[in-house]
Amino acid sequence: MLPFTIEPTTSPTPADARDAALVDPGFGKLFTDHMVVVRYDEAKGGWYDAKVTARAPIPMDPASSVLHYAQEIFEGMKAYKLSDGSTALFRPDANARRFNESATRMAMPHVPKDLFVESVEQLVRIDSQWFPKVEGGALYLRPFMFASEVFLGVRPAKQYLFITIASPVGAYFKGGIAPVTIWVSQHYTRAAPGGTGAAKCGGNYAASLVAQAEATAQGCDQVVFLDAAEHKWVEELGGMNLFFVFDDGSIITPPLTGTILPGITRSSIIDLARAQGMTVSEQPYSIDQWQADAESGRLRETFACGTAAVVTPVGTVKSPQGSFTIGGNQSGPVTASLRSALVSIQRGDAADPHGWVHRI
Ligand code: PMP
Repeated sequence: MLPFTIEPTTSPTPADARDAALVDPGFGKLFTDHMVVVRYDEAKGGWYDAKVTARAPIPMDPASSVLHYAQEIFEGMKAYKLSDGSTALFRPDANARRFNESATRMAMPHVPKDLFVESVEQLVRIDSQWFPKVEGGALYLRPFMFASEVFLGVRPAKQYLFITIASPVGAYFKGGIAPVTIWVSQHYTRAAPGGTGAAKCGGNYAASLVAQAEATAQGCDQVVFLDAAEHKWVEELGGMNLFFVFDDGSIITPPLTGTILPGITRSSIIDLARAQGMTVSEQPYSIDQWQADAESGRLRETFACGTAAVVTPVGTVKSPQGSFTIGGNQSGPVTASLRSALVSIQRGDAADPHGWVHRI
């Protein structure tokens, strides 16, 4: 593996200012003192110059190809402070794998798994004083890669930067784990068959913003996207996957057909639910059926899941045709039990039969 050069910042945030900020970090607003940067150049044979350095602006030529053709991918993961005081990542191998699947889709080079995980670990080690001092807090890690080659012309770039930054975070939704309200996007879709929906590329999020803005204008917390071809099947939220819990104890989640991001929380929840004896099927579920099942009571709970918000109940679904509520707009027992099973493993408070917790 590439050797890392470590250049600690010469102007760290004073400890009292840092600790004051860590009491209420919010989400994605506060950043640590360092970043990890690794360079790629096809002409140099691939990755080189791995560096842990002071977090700082990145000098960028206006013709850097990412600014024009959007070759950019990222990951989102968390480092946790465990109850015994040690620090751990949750399934970093899965993030490395998904990052490289995104890279393949965007015609970008792969970052070797060990280089990916080592970059994240190096950052957590050097910024270990930046864990938030709030219940449920974590260090959110954002590894990302973009085309840095200076050229105009539509072809895959030959130079890239792979950078990891860290942000201490508290709860994602201001209401904590109160049920969220979601808006069914009628005009906009997130991803089409054959498109980039399964890749974690910046462009997917750019395309989702107008729909999210509409959701916010409608007083909703998040947008839910339907499939692009038929506008019938429920896909996912702007940044979370969905699960539906029925009165017979069975669970449905939409299948990974290329238009949905394969969430690592989603995959973990499927395993945990099965371990609790529930039947989980990955099958299409329509918006009309969702409403009918919520109204008949056959559907007991709906929850969304992802690294940022973990597991969040969905209480109300709103669209121009009207709205419906699920389970009396209350958080249900299956949502609570799966959330607690996941969080207990992530925090090192429960056995880890799958080997998901990666101590640093
Ligand atoms: N869907 C989308 C569109 C997302 O951005 C995310 C967050 N990465 C997820 C689902 C959930 O994925 P994960 O559980 O890996 O965070």
